Amino acid sequence: MYMPESNAKGRIILIDDDRDVAAVVKKFLKRSGHTIDTADSGEEGVRLIGDSEYDIVITDIYLPGMDGMAVLEKIKSINADIDIIVITGFGSIQSAVSFMRAGAIDYISKPINFDHLDIIVQKTLERKELIKAARERDIYFRMSLTDALTGTFNHKYFQESLEREMLYARRKTESLTIMMADIDSFKTVNDTYGHQAGDMVLQRISSNIIKACRGHDTVSRYGGEEFGIILPETGVQKSTRVAERILNAISSNSYPPVAHTITVSIGIASYPDHAEDKEDLIKKADLALYASKEKGKNCFTVYDGSR
Ligand code: GH3
Ligand code: MG
Ligand code: MG
Repeated sequence: MYMPESNAKGRIILIDDDRDVAAVVKKFLKRSGHTIDTADSGEEGVRLIGDSEYDIVITDIYLPGMDGMAVLEKIKSINADIDIIVITGFGSIQSAVSFMRAGAIDYISKPINFDHLDIIVQKTLERKELIKAARERDIYFRMSLTDALTGTFNHKYFQESLEREMLYARRKTESLTIMMADIDSFKTVNDTYGHQAGDMVLQRISSNIIKACRGHDTVSRYGGEEFGIILPETGVQKSTRVAERILNAISSNSYPPVAHTITVSIGIASYPDHAEDKEDLIKKADLALYASKEKGKNCFTVYDGSR
């Protein structure tokens, strides 16, 4: 006997023009604890599906007016997450196959065997729960790597991603460059306009940095008002062009309510030219960033080995 792994209850809609069949199926599913609505035509079913939330549609394939295939296609266009089980005539496996090709999840045949119906409904609901749990895990996973304020990646992601990229670069004997970008005199922005305005500026600066970078570069908020940028398969030469674009993008945009120009300073370090491991690479990029600050800000510096 089939033992369901969960005892999930679903919201089900049954579309069948045979009222006697509909009545017994409804009674059976209700007794199993599901919520069930019925419709005796495709049009009525589609209308109900547009109005309410259902997990499963069980529909006859022979319906007056709008037939089963049209109903199936319409339902998919209204809500792609609803699972559709079709009821086929006895022995018409070929039509069941064509319905499953069109997106139905399973089929039952008439006359309906209720144990079979129960198994299919349970399995469908279990599958739905698994998908939902997987989606939630995915969302939480992504949230754990994203910075809440700016929507860029966070410090944790920067570290993990750099670790991965270092391994890749080493294996492929490729170069890899990182940049540390720190907003200049940001304390003044907070002191003059308040912390909330500062937050808004941070958001806009992040999106401008992302726009100035290339598709495969990753921008993370390293901490406070500092960003870590990873440029895979990129040497010093090419990275300086990206750095120039970032400097331009930041200083040429305005950041209301801030009245003055906002700028960033950037430090650049490259593997294998300047460092052999991740920690050293970050340290060298940071030293180059300090050099940019000392030079008067709003500029980039490539680590030059002098410190
Ligand atoms: P420098 O040019 O040398 O980088 O000067 P600075 O003022 O940018 O640097 P400092 O380290 O003195 O100050 C950084 C400021 O960034 C102070 C801190 O309050 C602000 N800051 C850090 N994180 C956030 C944030 O999430 N929101 C806001 N509004 N401010 C932040
Ligand atoms: Mg700063
Ligand atoms: Mg800072």
